[in-house]
Parts: sequence; structure tokens; C-alpha cells
Amino acid sequence: MAFLTRFAPSPTGPLHLGHAYSALLAQDMAQAAGGTVLLRIEDIDQSRSRPKWETQIYDDLQWLGLNWPRPVMRQSDRLPVYRTALDRLLARGLIYICTCSRRDIDMALSAPQEGVTVGPDGPIYPGTCRAAQHRDGKNGVFRLNMAAAMDLVADVNFIETGPCHTGTIIRTRADYLDGIGDIVLARRDMGTSYHLSVVLDDAAQGVTHVLRGEDLFEATAIHVVLQRLLNLATPIYHHHPLIRDAAGKRLAKRDDARAIAKYRAEGTTPANIRRMIGL
Ligand code: GLU
Repeated sequence: MAFLTRFAPSPTGPLHLGHAYSALLAQDMAQAAGGTVLLRIEDIDQSRSRPKWETQIYDDLQWLGLNWPRPVMRQSDRLPVYRTALDRLLARGLIYICTCSRRDIDMALSAPQEGVTVGPDGPIYPGTCRAAQHRDGKNGVFRLNMAAAMDLVADVNFIETGPCHTGTIIRTRADYLDGIGDIVLARRDMGTSYHLSVVLDDAAQGVTHVLRGEDLFEATAIHVVLQRLLNLATPIYHHHPLIRDAAGKRLAKRDDARAIAKYRAEGTTPANIRRMIGL
């Protein structure tokens, strides 16, 4: 099994030092293993994705010395694939339509008997629409019925090779029900979600190693359960520490000060960028 990983940025802002770290680490690991890094453009959020950021991604990565096979997979081209997977899950009774607004959810969670637990996607959904059998998908989001999912897949594990959690990671039914809950698999405005798309795309591309930031570690449990439900292979995971600023805060797209484009404009070399991020 040849090592195949991917760098999967969203074109919603400039790439910064954290992205450079992820992309170059992927390249270094792929090279060491005689494998390949794919580039995937994660542009399902069309309200925030911009062609200019996509162009900037290609420019910055080329400048950093990254090579990737063409054509590049773009998630906005794959909406029918995501839709088919949702239909399969719907037909099996594993997802349901939820019409709750954010306010409805906040109100249900602020009821005195509900302690608020926060999962990878925020507060755990209180389950209001689970039994409602709403019919119109246009007016709601699709949520995974986690209890029904766990009846099918039982306990879940995956292999992690990153420095923060090395080894076999095990997640139990209780972890899923209490710590993740009925997560959204298709948002109204996107027709899909990050979780569903990333799982289908990694499988479609034959990715053997998922390399990404530690901030996505907890989301991996969601991805593995989707792989089990959709009969897809589970890659090996490697979550790397996040690059932080001098104050210890993780970098975000809006931190233009750390944008690769800004360093480039100031005359920094790719070798200097490597030194700055400790590669
Ligand atoms: N598109 C995600 C991001 O820009 C990365 C997703 C992943 O690597 O799974 O943060």
C-alpha cells in the first residue's frame, strides 16, 4: 500500500504558517515513504470560498516547493456524490431531518435538566427532531442518528501516529452518544458537511494517511464511524501540533500577519519558512 496523503485547504483566506507546516510535513513524510501528496480544494462553503484564494493557494504552495498531481479534486464538483451517500444513509434510517434553529437548540439546552456537553461540533444536539419524521429536506439539516449508527458499528478504533496521541485510539458507544451526539451531515446551505465530504473524498482518492492539525483530532471519531457506515477503509491518522503565535494563540486565516504571501512579499525564502516552523 503506497503512502498517499493529502493537503486539503479551504480557499476562504490566505494560507498562513500553520498551513505551510501541514503541507511541508505532508511532503516530507510522503517523500520519506516514497509516496505522494495530493492537493484537494475544500470549497463546499461557497459563501466564504473565493477564486482569488484558490489561486493564491496554488501560488503559495508552488513557491514553498510542493508538487502535486493534477487535476486537483475540488469538493464543489462532487455535490452529487455527497448527495448519493446521504440518500443511502436516509434510506437506511440512519439520518433524519432536523428543523431546529440555533435558538431552538440553545433553548432546549438551557432547560434546567440538561447539562451542556460540548463535542467536536459544539453543544451536543438535544435530540428534539429525532422522532419527528420531518419530510422536507430543503427546510432542514440532515443529522446522523448516532444511537442507530452505534447499533450497527459498535465500538470504533483507529490508528494515530501523531505526537500527541500515538497508538490505537478507541472510542466507545458512550463516547459517541455522550460526547458527539447527532451531528449534522448536511447543512442547508451546502448540501453536505465537512465530515461527510472529507470521508468520501479521502476514500475516493485512496488516501492511506490523513495528516492534519491537532484541532481536528476529535473529529476523527466522527469520520471513522462514517467510514464504517459507508463501508469505506479507515486510513491511518497523524494529527500534528498547531503552529502558534508568540502569545501561544493558534493561527487563523484572519491572521494576515502570518500569511505566507506576506512573508513572500517581504523577501523571505522558502528555506526561512521551513526554519520558522521548525522543519
Ligand atoms: N479543510 C480543512 C481545513 O482547511 C482541513 C480538513 C482535513 O485535513 O481533514 O482546515
